[in-house]
Amino acid sequence: MSNPAYRSLLLDFLATRNPRKADAEAERIATPEALKTWLLRRELIQPGDQVLEADVANARRVRAAIRSFIAAHRGRNVDPRTAPTLSSVTSYAPLKLTVGDDGAVRLQPAVGGVAGALSSIVAELYLAAADGTLERLGICRMCGFPFHDRTRNRSRVWCSMERCGARAKSRALKARRQGDSRASNREGIPAETPGASD
Ligand SMILES: [Zn+2]
Repeated sequence: MSNPAYRSLLLDFLATRNPRKADAEAERIATPEALKTWLLRRELIQPGDQVLEADVANARRVRAAIRSFIAAHRGRNVDPRTAPTLSSVTSYAPLKLTVGDDGAVRLQPAVGGVAGALSSIVAELYLAAADGTLERLGICRMCGFPFHDRTRNRSRVWCSMERCGARAKSRALKARRQGDSRASNREGIPAETPGASD
């Protein structure tokens, strides 16, 4: 219950762009081959499915929209393209409800390929919204990496305390010190400038 697969599917999809890395290495689905490998590993497409350049662009657009949507849950500005992008995904590959012999109830895309895979990912977004998990997903304010917030009051804002939490605090401290020294300089000017106090 602590970490159902669909939560990690969403986070893993977002993590196909790693903002912590330099541009050339940040993008893990830069080519049709790379996207196909990633989708196959997640069993979201079949080995014979075709993946085109347009699919790469589409996957990245959906990923950006999910990212913006999740960030918005934590008070960040939403890109106006977010809602239309997410809403349009299932028009290419509608989701249908299937009930298995094992009693499992699933939302599955009516068509395969990349369109179906993207609908599966958007279905996870729906499930996360329905069970409250969405409230626990966040985007690091420092580096932009996605995270699952396990704090009791959902107060997490960084991907990790050690990495970005520490960097944010030292940056804040530095800014405060600079502010202090600027303030004391300002106060110092009249005393150091002859005639300024007259
Ligand atoms: Zn971070």
